[in-house]
Amino acid sequence: MLPINKKISKYNFYKGNDIKYIIIHDVGSKSTAKNNVDYFAGGNRNASAHYFVDDTSIWQSVEDHNGAWSVGDGGNKYGINNTNSIGIEMCLPSGTVTAKTEQNTLELVKYLMAKYNVPADRVVRHYDASRKNCPAQFNLDGKWTRWYAFKAKLEGKTVTPPTVEVKPTAPAVKPAPQAKYKEESFSVRQVTDVALNVRKQPNTSSAVIKTLPKGKQFTPTKIVRNGESVEGFTTWCNTEAGWVSMAYTTPVKTVAKPAPKPVQKLKGENLPNRGYYKVTANTNIRSGAGTNHRIVGTYAKGQGFNYDRKVIAGGYVWLSYISYSGQRRYVAVV
Ligand SMILES: [Zn+2]
Repeated sequence: MLPINKKISKYNFYKGNDIKYIIIHDVGSKSTAKNNVDYFAGGNRNASAHYFVDDTSIWQSVEDHNGAWSVGDGGNKYGINNTNSIGIEMCLPSGTVTAKTEQNTLELVKYLMAKYNVPADRVVRHYDASRKNCPAQFNLDGKWTRWYAFKAKLEGKTVTPPTVEVKPTAPAVKPAPQAKYKEESFSVRQVTDVALNVRKQPNTSSAVIKTLPKGKQFTPTKIVRNGESVEGFTTWCNTEAGWVSMAYTTPVKTVAKPAPKPVQKLKGENLPNRGYYKVTANTNIRSGAGTNHRIVGTYAKGQGFNYDRKVIAGGYVWLSYISYSGQRRYVAVV
């Protein structure tokens, strides 16, 4: 097999990839593998693929452990999506996918099948994920003859390609594990880390009900701790009438509500607006309602005075009266 060159793009990928399928495409326009990785590394293209292959080279643009934007057009309708697959684009610098490019692709596919334990029946076309006519180069006769020949080579069989198109079968389904799932109640709000499949049962073999977008928040009501292990996590929680693997969810941090501020009563606030007041501590007499005002005298604890006005200022209740000198005076209730 040709060596894998890497030019990983920082655009257009999903974090995380649960590799179940290998998807074959062709780029459809005249360009080399290198032309393609350069293009996809150059900016947001609203599309991507893991590998580009031509006659002389293999270039990688998206890491295997991340999802590419290659079959989003299928909306997971057939269970094949951007975060459960590796996408390979065959390139056609001469305008057609050559036998050499096909052979290089075949070798790369076999390498990835072995590496990720993907069986031949999960090596599929873009067509199988969305019904797009891709790789169109393998369907030039409208019967996918070249595709079936490619699959036969992959399986090491020499079979005559069917002359009528076989309706793509539903993706092979492993028999569901017989585990009895033990449900417990659970209600910690979660957010999805990736586009995440909701499945009928807490295992990756059961049917996908829908796919939650990345960043979707939900509050489960149940959890099972003995679901299928996904990246070492066997916990699944329920949502949307199905189950999601908690390997790809994170608890939502709940922001603690600040305790309501107690309404602080100022000392003396309940005193009548005029009357007689006896100080409970040695207290300054001031020229104004505030501790910044001049001290003109002091009442000793137990002394009292008549006041005719109550003022609230600067965090104190001030009792005020006209002194013998004719000046208005202020005494804080402390
Ligand atoms: Zn395609």
